[in-house]
Amino acid sequence: MPLDTLPPSPIAPTVDFDRDGVQHGFLRLPYSRDDSAWGSVMIPVTVVRNGPGPTALLTGANHGDEYEGAVALFDLARTVKAEQVTGRVIIVPAMNYPAFQAGTRTSPIDKGNLNRSFPGRPDGTVTQKIADYFNRTLLPMADVVMDLHSGGKTLDFVPFAAAHILPDKEQEARCFAAVAAFSAPYSMRMLEIDAVGMYDTAAEEQGKLFVTTELGGGGTGRASTIAIAKRGIANVLRHAGILAGTVETAPTRWLDMPSADCFRFAEDAGLIEPCVDLGEPVRKGDLLARIHPIGRTGQAPSDYRAGLDGILAARHFPGLVKAGDCIAVVGTLED
Ligand SMILES: [Zn+2]
Repeated sequence: MPLDTLPPSPIAPTVDFDRDGVQHGFLRLPYSRDDSAWGSVMIPVTVVRNGPGPTALLTGANHGDEYEGAVALFDLARTVKAEQVTGRVIIVPAMNYPAFQAGTRTSPIDKGNLNRSFPGRPDGTVTQKIADYFNRTLLPMADVVMDLHSGGKTLDFVPFAAAHILPDKEQEARCFAAVAAFSAPYSMRMLEIDAVGMYDTAAEEQGKLFVTTELGGGGTGRASTIAIAKRGIANVLRHAGILAGTVETAPTRWLDMPSADCFRFAEDAGLIEPCVDLGEPVRKGDLLARIHPIGRTGQAPSDYRAGLDGILAARHFPGLVKAGDCIAVVGTLED
């Protein structure tokens, strides 16, 4: 259905996006259910506006078990003052709020993976309604869009900010300039293995400056990665001229994901033995991990080797794996 013939979103904001000052409120999504006949999902939102200027749209917990973005954005929403801003900042610290409340990647209401639900539907599931509201209401307001991810309960990453290779080279250059301003320890030219339905794709197709991150994982935040998130968010806002102050640069190493050879997927279930830690250099053919069968003793493990030279950029997190799990990602160094 063309976008202009879709019914309006059922989501009602309790904030006025055009009013100056700091407002804390909700995106209220009606959700009728057994324990609340006329109930709603209340997604926290902060709007900070100070006169005309560009708009930044900042989101965390697009996946509900990823915490660096959520911590940094709840903190920013509480502390940022209108006089520090030129234009507008819209902060949604926990984008898939039902998933965030449950501590799960996908929504417990409908099992929706928000980052595979775009462009969404105003008459669809709860998750599809959130996607539709971002796609048709919030993204069109924004110039700069930053969506902060981490690995969640099943992956762990070296901390990086990232953008995608785009057909519009002017847009791509704006995105990578903002990734450089973020100043994470690593900066990634990212290849998506499953780009259909992503928020990233929706933002990029609307011509936005889009930056994403992977800042750790394992279903928790760490002091070091939360500090990287806080500094990076402020840096991108300063780079865009929206937040007062100068960009605090820090050294970054540029990584590439040039092909599917970066990824290793388990073909066996069992007990994983990491043979390289995150950030360590690897050569093509090096052993990345072994999977030990757990049904009986005396069985040889299966070996998983690097498909190219680089560093270990991501790994499976819990100690047991299933066939099909992503167990390792090698990023190539651009130096
Ligand atoms: Zn994520």
